[in-house]
Amino acid sequence: MQMQKTLTHGLAMAIDTDKMDFSTDTRMPSQQRTLAWATREEQLLASYAMFSIRSAGRRYHEPPHMFRGPFQRDRDRVLHSSAFRRLSGKMQVFTGEMGDYHRTRLTHTHEVATIARTIGRALRLNEDLIEALALLHDIGHPPFGHSGEDALDECLKDEGGFSHNRFALTLVEELEMRYTTYPGLNLSKELLAGQNFRTTHQGETPLLEVQVVDWADSIAYNAHDADDAMKLGLLHFSQLQSLDLARRALDCGTAYAPGSTERALRQVLVHNLIDVQVGDLLENVQSRLDGLQGLDSLSISQLGIQLNMSDEVLAEREQFGKFLFDNVYRHPQLVSVRSRAAGKVTQLFERLTEHPEYLPTRFLDRAQKVGIHRAVGEYIAGMTDRFCDAEHRQIIELGGTQARDWF
Ligand code: MG
Repeated sequence: MQMQKTLTHGLAMAIDTDKMDFSTDTRMPSQQRTLAWATREEQLLASYAMFSIRSAGRRYHEPPHMFRGPFQRDRDRVLHSSAFRRLSGKMQVFTGEMGDYHRTRLTHTHEVATIARTIGRALRLNEDLIEALALLHDIGHPPFGHSGEDALDECLKDEGGFSHNRFALTLVEELEMRYTTYPGLNLSKELLAGQNFRTTHQGETPLLEVQVVDWADSIAYNAHDADDAMKLGLLHFSQLQSLDLARRALDCGTAYAPGSTERALRQVLVHNLIDVQVGDLLENVQSRLDGLQGLDSLSISQLGIQLNMSDEVLAEREQFGKFLFDNVYRHPQLVSVRSRAAGKVTQLFERLTEHPEYLPTRFLDRAQKVGIHRAVGEYIAGMTDRFCDAEHRQIIELGGTQARDWF
């Protein structure tokens, strides 16, 4: 048994580190269980991590939970939200009509969360906050990926446009209904600020946890868009082999046998693509962060500390991203699917703004507050791809007059 004494913001506690599973120990008085998550963080996190105990709290005051820290509660609230469940019906890059086995926005979200947690754990950052941020980051996506977003942005161009990052905040602050006394999920201010930074990219340098999720997002989609594109036959393995980042991924770590099947090579490529980028990021920032031990998260933001990969890998990522842009995102097969999807979103938007009476009551009420254009935009943005298809068929093709709610 190892006894250790730590100082948690004035609270001196003796901790038995061999018995750290406080959560299920109902014999423990609730006050001690409340402190357990703070104690755990005190032992595991680097000084510059965002400690739960330093959270600025929530908009509507709530007492601390007995055995879950504030960011754990945030993660659970996002996970249990209706918007999160709808991610399973939203495309990432490739639509449902192109196949069944590629990523959806839900699986992308989980890939981002695991990559971000890996980075966060290696840097001893707050994994609970990281996971909550990752699960939240894409819940504002409209149906049909970026084509749906572009279409809504165009429809709302006179009203400030549409951004999925901003809509994520609208969902969790206004549209999700979890409590009877106030709207939204009442998430921690750190989580909202992190998501807000994704929208504005302005203000103070965000917490390291926020930066980690941002990196994990782009690492995930680089790798899995290439994987899905090869699987769907839009891209051939040999095309990727000429790219520097792909070469780096194939040459490192896991050896592959000569004569391996293309499918095996593709799998090696994809997981090594993730590994080399994560590895480069960690290698590039670790020594810098070691030199900042002792500083807290606030000082790190004030100093403008930014996590970054090496110049070499950044240049390789740029080449890789440009290749994907030219050869996948602009692939004729994808372009035609996208323009059909954008057309549906636009037609629905136009019909419903002309006939607000078709809207579900909730969004008709919402129009009183935010105006009819924004309310229709929000209604469409909350749909899954299939729901949008069905509403388009019902309202546009069949001339229906009653749009369904998606709650
Ligand atoms: Mg994403």
